[in-house]
Amino acid sequence: MKVIKQHYINGRFVDSHGTETLDIVNPTNKTVIARLTLGDEQDARDAIGAAKAAFQTYSKTSIEERKDYLQRLHDAIAARTDEHIAVRTEEYGGVARHNRFSIEGAAKIFLNMKKTLDEVPFVKKVGQAKVTLKPVGVAGLITPWNSAIFMVCNKLAPALAAGCTVVIKPSELSAMQIQLLMECIDSAGVPPGVINVVNGLGHVVGNELTTHPDVAKVSFTGSTIVGKTVMRNAAETMKRVTLELGGKSAHIILDDADIDQAAEFVLSAGFMNNGQACISGTRILVPEHKLEAIKAAFLRAMPKWKVGNPTEDDIVLGPLVTEKQFNRVQGYIQKGIDEGAEILAGGVGQPKGLEAGFFTKPTIFVNVTNDMTIAREEIFGPVLSVITYKDDGDAVRIANDSAYGLQGWISTTNLQRGQALADQIEAGVVMVNQVFNLFDEAGAPAGGVKQSGIGREFGTYGLSSYLEPQAVFF
Ligand code: NDP
Repeated sequence: MKVIKQHYINGRFVDSHGTETLDIVNPTNKTVIARLTLGDEQDARDAIGAAKAAFQTYSKTSIEERKDYLQRLHDAIAARTDEHIAVRTEEYGGVARHNRFSIEGAAKIFLNMKKTLDEVPFVKKVGQAKVTLKPVGVAGLITPWNSAIFMVCNKLAPALAAGCTVVIKPSELSAMQIQLLMECIDSAGVPPGVINVVNGLGHVVGNELTTHPDVAKVSFTGSTIVGKTVMRNAAETMKRVTLELGGKSAHIILDDADIDQAAEFVLSAGFMNNGQACISGTRILVPEHKLEAIKAAFLRAMPKWKVGNPTEDDIVLGPLVTEKQFNRVQGYIQKGIDEGAEILAGGVGQPKGLEAGFFTKPTIFVNVTNDMTIAREEIFGPVLSVITYKDDGDAVRIANDSAYGLQGWISTTNLQRGQALADQIEAGVVMVNQVFNLFDEAGAPAGGVKQSGIGREFGTYGLSSYLEPQAVFF
């Protein structure tokens, strides 16, 4: 069993002040694989102090120097891709299909951000004024467990590109993945204090980051409920906030769609990353008159979604991350049944022979109405709700009838029609017939509207959230 009791502060691995420990459990077989010592407020303060001191010099580095650090971080992470993938499988239950995308994507973000740096005019003349983009200061980066390395890198790259120094508070459920990332960061040779990592609980270490006066910005990815607490806490010292929160995204199958292709696309967009993805399309809107044909297409497509041990290559759905998450998902499936939805595939309980881990059955509900709990709340597991619509206007109305607005999905054979419909969807991103080109080099933004968050990540949009303009008139 691995023992993790150090944070990464001021360029060194240092022992935690904390005394509380947490056992990390392999979700595939429920064995304890690591014991993590959780950090306390003092650890967080030490990290914030180191970041504050480092900001004095790092904020004045040239763009070329920052590009060099971004390149080094890319190289250090990419060099250990296979190790990252192995630990992601062991600790999180990640499957091959998603692991590579997530880890290679994480490394690539640093290269993308290098390019982005060339696109941003850090100094420009606006009328009489010289306008300079300045780093906001120390940034607190708080991330969830579902794509641990990717989420951290997606915040770290723009923060460093902007000239900020950071304190990272990852989910403690990703301790082994983060340990490897800390080793990569250490080997990249970034100056001490620029990147600090403190493992610990949200209400302890996370709380310190969102309330400490020396933290100028918080970038948070996680649930909407915690996001609201973060925003409330940050308000007291007027921190800048970026919030990437939950979703309950609609996937509209238009009546011109090829039904079998659409079914495959719906399942890919709905079950990605073991169903634990904020952007999953989980409300499946289908034309009323095509319901029976689409149900049949789902049943044809489902056998490809093989659940099992994520170390096996043909497995596309691994376990849920923890027992708590397993119970939560089971609870929602039961709730769907209780509220009158009908199970087309899956259901409560575990797939046969997979009782040793936190495996759940990929589930499709039909006869769902948009007011049911399973259509309104984020389940964060492989559970889809099929809802019928009468015409395109009705589909848009149902899609937008949600507190969330993270992502939209459209299946169609008519791209023009798909684009026109996308314009009407209240979401930060809409994918028409596509699953995996989100993190493109050009730096298109991602993020949510409504209760899915505030601000955008990627490219110039992400970078600008770590910068503030200063106008000097002379
Ligand atoms: P949580 O909101 O529970 O936690 C996210 C992070 O915040 C964790 O590191 C957590 O620490 C920390 N945290 C908890 N309480 C506080 C607090 N009071 N102050 C500061 N930090 C705190 O989310 P999960 O980790 O369970 O992740 C799943 C959620 O993340 C889903 O809702 C999902 O939609 C969302 N998500 C959003 C994405 C997006 O880009 N929009 C992408 C991926 C996920 P601790 O673990 O100790 O509680």
